[in-house]
Amino acid sequence: MQASENSNDDFLFIDDSDEDEILDGDGKEAWQVLIVDDDPEIHSVTQLALSDLVVLGRRLEYLHAYSGQDACTLIEQHHNIVLVLLDVVMETDDAGLNVVKHIREKLQRQDIRIVLRTGQPGYAPEESVIKEYDINDYKTKTELTRRKLVTTVYAAIRSYQQIATVTENRQGLEKIVSGSANLLELHSITEYCQGVLQQLTTLIDQNIECLFCARGQGIIDNADDLSFYIIAQQGFSTILTKQKLDKLKSEQISQQVKSCFTQKMHQSQDLSQCFYLARGGYRAVVYLALPEPLTEIQQQLLEVFLTNAAVGYENVHLFQKLSNAAYKDWLTNLPNRLEFVRLLDLFAKSDGDNDVAALIDLNHFSDVNDGLGQDVGNMLLVAVAQRLQKIGCDCKVARVGADVFGVIGTADCLTPETLIQLFEQPFAAGEQKLPINACFGFCTKEHASGSGVQVLNQINIALNLAKKQRIEHFTYYNPEMEDETLWRLNMIRELRTDFAANRLELWYQPQLALDTAKVIGAEALLRWRTADGNFISPAVFIPLAEYSGLIIEIGDWVVNQACQQINDLSQQNFTDITISVNVSIPQFRRGNFVETVLNAIQSHQVQPSKLELEITENILMDDPQVVIDALVELKNIGISIALDDFGTGFSSLSYLQKLPLDRLKVDRAFITDIAKEGQSVIAETIIDLGKKMNLKVIAEGIEEIEQQKRLIELGCDEVQGFYYAKPMPQDEFLNFLKSNS
Ligand code: C2E
Ligand code: MG
Ligand code: MG
Repeated sequence: MQASENSNDDFLFIDDSDEDEILDGDGKEAWQVLIVDDDPEIHSVTQLALSDLVVLGRRLEYLHAYSGQDACTLIEQHHNIVLVLLDVVMETDDAGLNVVKHIREKLQRQDIRIVLRTGQPGYAPEESVIKEYDINDYKTKTELTRRKLVTTVYAAIRSYQQIATVTENRQGLEKIVSGSANLLELHSITEYCQGVLQQLTTLIDQNIECLFCARGQGIIDNADDLSFYIIAQQGFSTILTKQKLDKLKSEQISQQVKSCFTQKMHQSQDLSQCFYLARGGYRAVVYLALPEPLTEIQQQLLEVFLTNAAVGYENVHLFQKLSNAAYKDWLTNLPNRLEFVRLLDLFAKSDGDNDVAALIDLNHFSDVNDGLGQDVGNMLLVAVAQRLQKIGCDCKVARVGADVFGVIGTADCLTPETLIQLFEQPFAAGEQKLPINACFGFCTKEHASGSGVQVLNQINIALNLAKKQRIEHFTYYNPEMEDETLWRLNMIRELRTDFAANRLELWYQPQLALDTAKVIGAEALLRWRTADGNFISPAVFIPLAEYSGLIIEIGDWVVNQACQQINDLSQQNFTDITISVNVSIPQFRRGNFVETVLNAIQSHQVQPSKLELEITENILMDDPQVVIDALVELKNIGISIALDDFGTGFSSLSYLQKLPLDRLKVDRAFITDIAKEGQSVIAETIIDLGKKMNLKVIAEGIEEIEQQKRLIELGCDEVQGFYYAKPMPQDEFLNFLKSNS
């Protein structure tokens, strides 16, 4: 159809406007209106009729299409079209309706307003179409006088504006909702504040400078309690996060933030705004500098968002408090075991191959607690915590147990030497200066495998081994240690069952006097024959029995067996034979050791002097006075005391002097090469020392006659060794005695 064919051609020239709808709209973006008509004249007439029209302060700008096809293309290309004045009948009878469908269905543009125009009333679309496709108006061209056209366009654009506002609001709210949901996932205060600023920028959709400011206490380490700090920032060229607000060197911003904080209300100044956030005693100020003023909607959305953000700000503080309670040690304020496990988890998963984790166990901490009181104990722990934090290199320090600390750091920094050095000086605890030693277990990144708990376990294995070492008090974990641990646990279990099943035996190794060559006694030595008939060396199973505490029961059994043997021997008229029994440290620690020995002597009716107890120097390491007291008591009963393996331990001679000894046993290590030129110095010294202390001296491990010769020259009293006899079962020992007498 052609508009010019219309019977009422000049309808648009009728100027029926009598009021001032035409306003001044300079300076604002224009509304884009698309005129679609196959009659070029309609384009110019429409444009003329609407010239000078200003709607809501903005002028109109026109785009032109002469077919439905063109219209679709133009709408796809121009996103700011707000209104389409659309002819219905063009290249086809329903070309206009196809454009409507294209806009609403294909492009999903529900906001664009559409006014349908047609030359003939017969081409009017169905009412249902008008509803379904949200068409603003349907007019025959004859109806459209200039005034009516203006009103229609005006109403359509207004309606567009309302839709746009609603949409903007909805989108803003969606952003607030999703932004707030994202913020919920942030649990650290600084991350949260940074998140708030990010969401804020998205919400405003402008390049803004913004700051999140608050008093720093509880958020920033070592913050003073009065200054304002920048907790987060966005859009500034210099990064001053976690620093004082004054560092920004902007008097205006500092003033504005402080005044917002003290007056407790939002404040705006030209293009900068301060929002006051307060909730549950947690207060902050968000500062914004904008390139252009906020629209009313933006302002409202911002306030809604920041009210929400204030709730989140309180929550994140409370969360931090909870997590402090759960993850921090109350005494030292260091991360606790739980947190250290988490740190170890990160350590195991990190790429830094150069990292090391360690556990530090204070020696004899319980003595400090028991002896000087818990307060001093606590002060000591705080002092240790402080010193450990001085290791440097960003080492992370935690308190993992009562007197156990954990550290993670780089391999160059966190070394045994560094830690040992830290413990060289005494620690100040109140009035006292306490010298404290510690044991260290290490695990390098290379060997750390699995979860945090597993790594902790691995370092623990190393630490436990370190505690058992006599010289170096540190160990690095390696995976074989775990096999060893497993092996050890199995062995201990087996030993326990076999001991209960009576599979342990006591064998005897004769001891002879060098001058008479007569047997004067025997050392009782444990033998363990397992179910499959193999012997396991006491050098292997005694340490396990000591480690597991099983040595206490086994030791009792040994003493009783030995007493039984003494009794048996005297029944056979061997009344001069002394039986020596080896005693381990845990047996002394138990406290009633003296009593159990006494019981054994009495129940087997044994003369005390026929029983000898062999102790080693190491027995003095732990608690010398307890051991010395027990030995003195035993000695007073008449029991003989021998010092075994003499010369291999580390005890001080002053303690040795206090021991109530009868015999010194020279260790086999000093006997082996004794017959060689110049190799007998130590044996000679020990023998001389024994004589000066008025003790008998017995040499162990004689295997050759030359060794015996040299010992006679040196004046040694007694001997024991394979040269004379190997350890043997009870009945064989009896036969040995019989054939020797
Ligand atoms: P020990 O007390 O120093 O015992 C002497 C060890 O030297 C014994 O080893 C003995 O068989 C061995 N021996 C004796 N003469 C010679 C020799 O001429 N050449 C060589 N090469 N070795 C010789 P055994 O029986 O294997 O015992 C090892 C250690 O186990 C003992 O060393 C002792 O410390 C411990 N032990 C044995 N039985 C007991 C026990 O009933 N209780 C405790 N607590 N420890 C025990
Ligand atoms: Mg011995
Ligand atoms: Mg020995």
